[in-house]
Amino acid sequence: MSAPAATLHAKRRDRLRELMAIDLPGLMLVVTDLANVRYLTGFSGSNAVLVVGPTSAGDLLGTDGRYRDQVAMQAPDLPVVIDRDTLIATLVRAAPTAYAVEPSLTVGDFESVRRIHGPPTVAASLVEQLRRVKDPLELAALERACSITVAAFAALAGEIRVGDAEVALARRLEQLFGELGAEDRAFDSIVGSGPHSAIPHHEPGARRLAAGDLLVIDAGARVDGYHADMTRTFVVAAEPAAWQAEVHAAVAEAQQRATAGYLPGAEARAVHALARATIADAGLADAFTHGLGHGVGLRIHEAPMIGERSNGTLEADMAITVEPGVYLPGRGGVRIEDTLVVTDAGPRILTEAPRGLAVVG
Ligand code: ZN
Ligand code: ZN
Repeated sequence: MSAPAATLHAKRRDRLRELMAIDLPGLMLVVTDLANVRYLTGFSGSNAVLVVGPTSAGDLLGTDGRYRDQVAMQAPDLPVVIDRDTLIATLVRAAPTAYAVEPSLTVGDFESVRRIHGPPTVAASLVEQLRRVKDPLELAALERACSITVAAFAALAGEIRVGDAEVALARRLEQLFGELGAEDRAFDSIVGSGPHSAIPHHEPGARRLAAGDLLVIDAGARVDGYHADMTRTFVVAAEPAAWQAEVHAAVAEAQQRATAGYLPGAEARAVHALARATIADAGLADAFTHGLGHGVGLRIHEAPMIGERSNGTLEADMAITVEPGVYLPGRGGVRIEDTLVVTDAGPRILTEAPRGLAVVG
């Protein structure tokens, strides 16, 4: 990877060190969460351990022989330990006197390191805290992932026909992501038709689309490790029934009002409450069964979460979804979801595309 990217990752480690100086003074932090390692080093292999020292001289990256060339290319600025027993070998080389581990470390790995180096401190999620606010390189990757997602949704909508199986639509959408330049899908695509549209995370199956179905498609592309997330609801080969149009209108209004509330300084729970109140006004309060949104980045779900128990406030350059939904068991459901960036000038929607109840098929 180029020198500027290496500098960027070194800067991220320095920002982490500032948090460590307050929360973990004098300690090394052993980073084992792979998204955190990637964020701090640029290395994207599936086996990695990063030790972040109190000064940059203590930084050390570990992986195994499968990644010897990749790690040299992606993280040229870091000393690397190559060993199949990566965690142990990296810690032996780092020889910590006092150290902290991430809360996601497995119990087995915790026991292994405790036996050799003594009990570690379990750190708060410091790297996740940094990752909430995106830098320009991250925003560029998210923009690309979202624009591919929008283009793929538009292409798929033109191809949908009565009789198509849900699972066939999911696979076709993912094929379009690849054709348009994505490295992969961001998560298991959700395609729910008819009564299945009332299941928020329906796993697409053999059910075939019928005229008059609601059709919820929730999917995203992944670019450079960054995840897009978008949902649109359609009606299949018929004018929407009155109840379908009413539910859709309530969700669309909630989504629009909540989106306008994604501003720096806004309380996450207040934005969620805005969407909930709009849906409650339509008499559908009990049918909105999940949180309003979540951060996206190197993971499809990351901080900040936007829900009724969220504590934080929004900050500029957070990338978050806004996705209210209404689900009527046995009948159908509607969800509308965008990925947006919080800015001082108002929300910048990355998945800009029509949100109306379009007829497909
Ligand atoms: Zn989604
Ligand atoms: Zn989402």
